[in-house]
Amino acid sequence: MRNAVIYLLALCLGMPAFSADPVGTLRGYSNDSAKTERDWETKFRAIPDPVNLRAYMERLSARPHHVGSPYDKDNAEWLLAKLKGFGLDAQIETFDVLFPTPKLRSLELVEPTRFTAKLAEPTVAQDPTSSQHDEQLPVYNAYSIDGDVTAPLVYVNWGIPEDYEMLDRLGVSVKGAIVIARYGNSWRGIKPKVAAEHGAIGCLIYSDPHEDGYFQGEVYPQGPFRPKDGAQRGSVMDMPIHPGDPLTPGVGATKDAKRLPLSDVDVFTKIPVMPISYGDAQPLLEALKGPMAPYAWRGALPITYHVGPGPAKVHLKLQFNWDTKPIYDVVARIPGSTYPDEWIIRGNHHDAWVNGAEDPVSGAIALLEEARGLGALLKQGWHPKRTVVLCFWDGEEEGLLGSTEWAEAHQDELRKDGAVYINSDGNGRGYLGVEGSHTLEKFLNSVARDIEDPETKLTVWKRMQMAEISQEGAEARSRADLRIGALGSGSDYTAFLDFLGVASVNMGFGGEDQGGIYHSVYDDFYWYTHFADTNFVYGRALAQTAGTAVMRLADSELLPYDFDNFTDTIHRYIDDVQKLAKDKRDQIVERNKRIDEGMFAAIMDPRVPMVAPPKEAVPPFLNFAPLENGLVALQRTTEAYDKALADATENGGAALARAALKDVNQKLILVERALTLNEGLPNRPWFKHQIYAPGFYTGYGVKTLPAVRESIEQKQWKLADEQIAKVGKVLENAGEAIQGATSELSKAVK
Ligand SMILES: [Zn+2]
Repeated sequence: MRNAVIYLLALCLGMPAFSADPVGTLRGYSNDSAKTERDWETKFRAIPDPVNLRAYMERLSARPHHVGSPYDKDNAEWLLAKLKGFGLDAQIETFDVLFPTPKLRSLELVEPTRFTAKLAEPTVAQDPTSSQHDEQLPVYNAYSIDGDVTAPLVYVNWGIPEDYEMLDRLGVSVKGAIVIARYGNSWRGIKPKVAAEHGAIGCLIYSDPHEDGYFQGEVYPQGPFRPKDGAQRGSVMDMPIHPGDPLTPGVGATKDAKRLPLSDVDVFTKIPVMPISYGDAQPLLEALKGPMAPYAWRGALPITYHVGPGPAKVHLKLQFNWDTKPIYDVVARIPGSTYPDEWIIRGNHHDAWVNGAEDPVSGAIALLEEARGLGALLKQGWHPKRTVVLCFWDGEEEGLLGSTEWAEAHQDELRKDGAVYINSDGNGRGYLGVEGSHTLEKFLNSVARDIEDPETKLTVWKRMQMAEISQEGAEARSRADLRIGALGSGSDYTAFLDFLGVASVNMGFGGEDQGGIYHSVYDDFYWYTHFADTNFVYGRALAQTAGTAVMRLADSELLPYDFDNFTDTIHRYIDDVQKLAKDKRDQIVERNKRIDEGMFAAIMDPRVPMVAPPKEAVPPFLNFAPLENGLVALQRTTEAYDKALADATENGGAALARAALKDVNQKLILVERALTLNEGLPNRPWFKHQIYAPGFYTGYGVKTLPAVRESIEQKQWKLADEQIAKVGKVLENAGEAIQGATSELSKAVK
């Protein structure tokens, strides 16, 4: 309103119209500097070129480049030379990490018939890199323990805790058995973890064609989906405890870092585990008898799915080389002109399981084009106010090794200077997906409004909005900003957000190019250029989006965090956990009633016996008042900050342009830090953020207000009450941090 009045006045007096176009203003900028910024951003967005993106991908994915391979190092050196060629100051930082590779893998069905699993992904004639067998890492799960086990087989569906409740009802135990779980519905590392908790002695994970094979579409090379012998490699490190090098939790894995003995490592699996293709899984599943698998457990193989145990009996033997390997992070730095001690960090990993055209090269090439663009702008006279750090991480696939070790090695500087971390990983066609700290939600909306979707020519924001309206209805129509998701884990933002409390974002395009080559030898240049972002226009869009975000953060007078959307989101999370506690209680009360009534026995088919679930103690009511008090503190201080910001940006932000804002920005950076507790989450001290964490039993999937939510989910009521008090205090601390920034801002623009 006020801006409109000034605009009219300015027109009448023939003065420059400072606030003429609210679309032209940028949060954290005076109007003059917003105009300059927009000019630089427009120049930047014209630079990324699909021709370069394609050439980079062809080069980086030409050979297998996992940790420890010659081409991993070669790629790092090539990236370094490129960055230097763009005029950037870059270097390679090396760490030494534990990286097991297979020495022996064998899997046989020994009863009632015999079958030996192939455990190999064959060459596809038209795909030139699929034949590089000498350099390919075999199919395996990294950080599985060695083992030699023979036991009856049990099919456990996804292998998540609910599936074991169903097995109990079917009267099936996995104690002493080898389980076979299908990929999907949880991060893979959860499957052996839960299996071991239930007494299993081995674990197989297979790719059912229902999830990413012929049930979804044509298989490779006719289509993008997983062929019969394609299998998914992947880490099974217990990353919800901590990611990074297993031998050096909490510190950088430098040459002389103190290392744990292997026997003290707490993130290996407890049982041997191996991934297999559906070609190898079918004979095993076909040999199972016992109860029929519940309807929802059945996949798309042409067999009748049974649970077991047996008569199928399998022999699984695994041995690994427990070697230490060097990893190579490639890091470029553009020093800030005004606030060199405030870092905007941008990263994507460069290592792959095999050739990795989609994961991670499709994202890494966007970052490389961003680097070229920023290098070109520097030559034209652009000077970011803040320091920009561009990072190509190594060792992501095994356990976020490169980013975690770097973040741990530089933790003192990062806790002081880390303002924002922007991550990407694989990229494809479709919609912009954004997840991250909600203090950045408003900012990210502003960026998405300025990027054109290459195929529809709408803005990427408009497409996101329409997609949300199509799915959830009206809120996306009326709310000023689209909501962004919260971050769990699964890529390199984890150490920045969860260990350090640096506001973080993950972004990428996708949704219109599904496939089934994830972590297989077929994720390569041939597949990508036939089935994914084949003309690299979404690679360009990612470079434009992430690059614009980096520049807009690096150039602003005031860091553009927003606490209004953040507080709104916290409000929702608090409502969520209250509802969760109520639902849990109601469910237990109702189920106990049904057990007393004899319902389970009465409705059971006597010829297909099922076990009734056990009665449970009714949970106490929890006291959510500390969270409510924390929320009120956030609401009050956010309102005050918004008022101070509105005052500072009056009249086109002249006061903002004049003021010394170093102390304000320093205080603003500390707000995300205030959301962490040094003691971390219950039983996992590495995870310090109290708003976001990957779930202890989901692995990648996020748990918001994790300490509270997980203690309710795990029915630990006393712990839940304690954690509510702690997190309530954290919200109050964040309120105080916002208050600190508000006072500093008012002082600065006086
Ligand atoms: Zn990746």
